[in-house]
Amino acid sequence: MSSPEVENLIIIGGGPAGYTAALYAARAELNPLVFEGFQWGGQLQNTTDVENYPGFPEGIMGPEMMTKFRAQAERFGTRFVSDDVDRVELSDGGIHKVFLGDEQYQAKAVVLAMGAEPKRLGIPGEMELSGRGVSTCGVCDGAFFKDKTTMVIGGGDSAMEDAVFISKFATSLDLVHRRDEFRASKIMQERAESKPNIALKTPYSPEEFIAGEDGALAKVRLRRADNGEVEDVAVDGAFVAIGHIPRSEVVVGQVDTDDEGYVKTSEPSTKTSLAGVFAVGDLVDHTYRQAVTAAGSGCAGALDAEWYLRDRD
Ligand code: NAP
Repeated sequence: MSSPEVENLIIIGGGPAGYTAALYAARAELNPLVFEGFQWGGQLQNTTDVENYPGFPEGIMGPEMMTKFRAQAERFGTRFVSDDVDRVELSDGGIHKVFLGDEQYQAKAVVLAMGAEPKRLGIPGEMELSGRGVSTCGVCDGAFFKDKTTMVIGGGDSAMEDAVFISKFATSLDLVHRRDEFRASKIMQERAESKPNIALKTPYSPEEFIAGEDGALAKVRLRRADNGEVEDVAVDGAFVAIGHIPRSEVVVGQVDTDDEGYVKTSEPSTKTSLAGVFAVGDLVDHTYRQAVTAAGSGCAGALDAEWYLRDRD
């Protein structure tokens, strides 16, 4: 159903940032409409125990946490469309349009909260063993590998940070990178190198994640970049830390984005290059990408939208 009404606020994205923006906007009586996506819940929908979100001392499963986020926004009157937005037509201070196929929705303000997704290697076993030894989030899953053998793949700051974090739990960690030089900052690299249980393994590219008889990850097949030699390394856990891709495809070319596709905001606000369009969460965040930082950013986006609508009207 298309809506002839002009909404106060449309929020695009159903992760911690989008739902927190909805909660604040609903309590401010803006009656927000959230396009939460077909697979609502964002990256936490693919996570098991969340142990680092404050307020849940026993931990909570990712999907359950997102159900609670959603319910809290709904309690104050948020409306949801559980579908993926196909297209938007954003204006500079005017009415913004959001399309689902031919259906059109309009709003005076928009909060963009589409998030990001971890980059994948695209090799056999990666998706099949995701959550069964293969992870894209060291901070989330590192503690599950206490006294286990592990591997981190990547050569940037994320890989170094994951390696240092996971090395607190794991007995050993191979830091695998496809080149001999690292992209990471010197200080982060030195921190990783100084850990006695971290070994640098370069120049190697992973070719396959291989399951054991129990169906969980058992080995990673690596190929040496310089001589093509293949080696199978036995590990309990492998972490892919090769960067993130912001999910900005529907707004690229309309709001300003950086070289990597992250939406640019005039920090510390959530304002984008278009008046009345705000961007929050992992869609703008190169660095932190945590549920709690995304939620905080969603709150800021709702407040910015509220103030914008107050002054506009
Ligand atoms: P990044 O800097 O883009 O590094 C990605 C790494 O993954 C690169 O070393 C790259 O190799 C490798 N890679 C990419 N695709 C690959 C593939 N298909 N196969 C094998 N390796 C692949 O990403 P990031 O580490 O996530 O960092 C992103 C930004 O966040 C950076 O600006 C970083 O400084 C920041 N950050 C900061 C902190 C901190 O300061 N605490 C922590 C995390 C992130 P090549 O080098 O060969 O291209």
